[in-house]
Amino acid sequence: MENTISNGELMLEVKNIHKKFADADVLHGISFTVRRGEVLVIIGPSGSGKSTMLRCLNRLEEIDKGSVQVRGEYLAKEVDGSTVYAEGDELRHILGSMGMVFQQFNLFPHMTVLENLLEAPMQVKKMKREEILPVAEELLRKVGLYDKKDSYPARLSGGQQQRVAIARALAMNPAIMLFDEPTSALDPELTGEVLKTMRELAAEHMTMVVVTHEMAFAREVANRVIFMADGNIVEQGTPEELFGAPKEERTKAFLNNML
Ligand code: ADP
Ligand code: MG
Repeated sequence: MENTISNGELMLEVKNIHKKFADADVLHGISFTVRRGEVLVIIGPSGSGKSTMLRCLNRLEEIDKGSVQVRGEYLAKEVDGSTVYAEGDELRHILGSMGMVFQQFNLFPHMTVLENLLEAPMQVKKMKREEILPVAEELLRKVGLYDKKDSYPARLSGGQQQRVAIARALAMNPAIMLFDEPTSALDPELTGEVLKTMRELAAEHMTMVVVTHEMAFAREVANRVIFMADGNIVEQGTPEELFGAPKEERTKAFLNNML
């Protein structure tokens, strides 16, 4: 398992990314790689740049410096000191290979659960309804919500809505799934069902980058954990290394606070 991953296809290669907002320097040179089937978990205090970093991977934010490669293709690279982004079909291909799940589920409120899953494959990928329908139904079965397919999001619990959001992202058949604190907006009793869905995805060797405060989940599911603070990677390692024997004082202090 470890070996398959360390030799596996490079799914993401992030080199020295920097990001500034008008008044804030948020990412100070972040580099990491993710291989096929790997689950990378990112932890760190609020405001450390985790969401911004994740959003830089699929161009929800543009980077100021550095490069992002997705399965060998450049999403963004530095040319003569400025950032150049992939364009046209290449850009669509790269962005289409990533699915994202947010803290706020962001389902389309005026569409049923099933329509939520059909929308992007039909609009973005121009798939026919009868082509995507069986895929969508299978995904809803997988997340345990087939019986809710004709319900509107507002009728579902937060945990159910988030499972629909995961199924919706999967309907685009992504190669990489990005999760930004997918359980942080949920009541504690609802986080378990979402984590279970994510565990199942990991068990099927989905490549995942997960920002989370769920330390037990991180410890159990991650192949590698990155601890970020103030826009830097302070420390990274296997869950055993990072949780069992953290090296940096910042990491130790953060983990102590989480207990
Ligand atoms: P985290 O996800 O680790 O909590 P964020 O990436 O959300 O951290 O935020 C990192 C820093 O960047 C924070 O100081 C935040 O206020 C700032 N920030 C995030 N998005 C924006 C934005 N669109 N404009 C200005 N500042 C932002
Ligand atoms: Mg965040």
